[in-house]
Amino acid sequence: MESPKNLTRNILLGMFLGALVGAFFFYAPFTFVTTSKVFLEEMVFNLGSEIFMNLLKMLVVPLVFFSLVSGIASLTSLKSFGSIAGKTVGLYLFTTAIAVSLSLFVGSIFKPGSNYLNSMPQNVDQLPQGQSLYETIAGIFPANILEAMASNDMLAIVFFSILFGLALNKTNHLTGNLSASFEKLNTVFLQLVLMVMTIAPVGVFCLIGKFVITDGFNIFKDVVLYVVLLTGVLLIHAFVTYSLLLKFLAQLNPLWFFNKMKEAAIFAFSTSSSAATIPVTLKTVNQDIGVDKDVASFVVPVGATINMDGTAIMQGMATIFIAQIAGMDLTLIQYVQVVLLAVITSIGTAAVPSAGTITLVIILQQFNLPLEAIGIILAVDRILDMIRTSVNITGDATVACVVARSENSFNKEVFNKA
Ligand code: ASP
Repeated sequence: MESPKNLTRNILLGMFLGALVGAFFFYAPFTFVTTSKVFLEEMVFNLGSEIFMNLLKMLVVPLVFFSLVSGIASLTSLKSFGSIAGKTVGLYLFTTAIAVSLSLFVGSIFKPGSNYLNSMPQNVDQLPQGQSLYETIAGIFPANILEAMASNDMLAIVFFSILFGLALNKTNHLTGNLSASFEKLNTVFLQLVLMVMTIAPVGVFCLIGKFVITDGFNIFKDVVLYVVLLTGVLLIHAFVTYSLLLKFLAQLNPLWFFNKMKEAAIFAFSTSSSAATIPVTLKTVNQDIGVDKDVASFVVPVGATINMDGTAIMQGMATIFIAQIAGMDLTLIQYVQVVLLAVITSIGTAAVPSAGTITLVIILQQFNLPLEAIGIILAVDRILDMIRTSVNITGDATVACVVARSENSFNKEVFNKA
C-alpha cells in the first residue's frame, strides 16, 4: 500500500495556509472581511474540521478491532501476548512518571506562578468531572460491547478485541482459518486510512484556520512563563527521554524515528486527540517504522488511551503554577503525591481535546488548590493541548518500538527505508 505523495509537505502547507487565512480574517479591520468571516468560519473551517474529524473517528473503532483481532489471532504463541502486554503497561507507567517528575523539577526551579498578580478569573462550574479510578477500571469490562463501540469506549473495545482474538486463535483449526478473513478486513481498513489521509492537507487547513480565526495569536500574554516552561518540558521529554529509550532500549536511531513520526505528530497536533489519531499512528508505527502488527495493534490503541506523558507534564506544571499563585509551597511528599496522581489521572483521561484539563481538577482538589485558577490556564490550553497530544502519541510509538525490539517483532528493513 502506498501513502499519498508528498503528504507531509502538503499537510504542513495546509497548516501554514490555515494559519495565514485565519489570521487575516481575525486581524483585518475591513467590513467585507467581517461579513465573509462568519461564512468562512462556519461553512469552511468549522464544517471542514468536523468532516475531517468524523472521517478519522469513523475509522478508529473498526481499525482497532480488526487490527487487534488479526494481530492476536496470528500469534503462534499466546505466551508472547502476556509478555507484550506486561512490558507495554510497565513502560507506559514508567515514562509517565518520568514525564511528570521532569515537569515538577523544572516548575519548582523556574517558578512560573510566583509573579502572577492578577486575580483569579472565571469559575469552573461548567467543567465536567473526570472519571474516577473506580470508573476507569470498571469501564474496561463492557456489559454491552455494541454500546462500548458506539460510545468509543477504547479500553472496553481493546479488552473485547483481545478476548475475541484469543478465541479466534484457539479455534482457527475448527473454523477453516477464519483469522485469515480478519487479516483481509484489516488490510481493507488500512487502505481506508490512506484514503482519508489524502484529504488531510485540507482537513488540517480547516482545523488550524478554525483555531486562529477565533483566537488570533494573542492568547499568550498573561501566562508566558507557564507556556514557555511547559512547552520546553514537553520538547525535552519528546526529544531527550524518548531518544534515550530508543537508543538504549531499542537500539534505534532516534533522529530517523522522529523523521518518520512527523506525519502522525502533525495529525495529533491538528486534531488534539490521540484517539482520533489512532489510525495514523497505527499506520506509521506498523508500515513506516516497522513494528510488527501483533505488537503495534496492541500497544498503539492502549497507549492512546492510557499513556499520556504530555498530559501528565501539563498537570504537573499546572499544579505547581497554581500552587505558586495561591502562595502555597508543596512539600516533598506532596511532589511525590502529584507524580502518583498524575500517572493515575492521565490513565483516566479521555484521548480527546482538553480532557487533561478536566482531570486536572482531581489533582487540584487533592491539595485544596483553587479550582478557579484553571480559568487562567484555560485561555492558553488549546495550543498547549495540540503540543501535548503530539507528545502523547510519540510516547506510544516509542514504547511500541522498545516492546517490538525486545520481542523480535521489528522489521529493521522497513525502519531503514527512506
Ligand atoms: N488531548 C489529549 C489527547 O488526546 C488529552 C489531553 O491532555 O487533554 O491525548
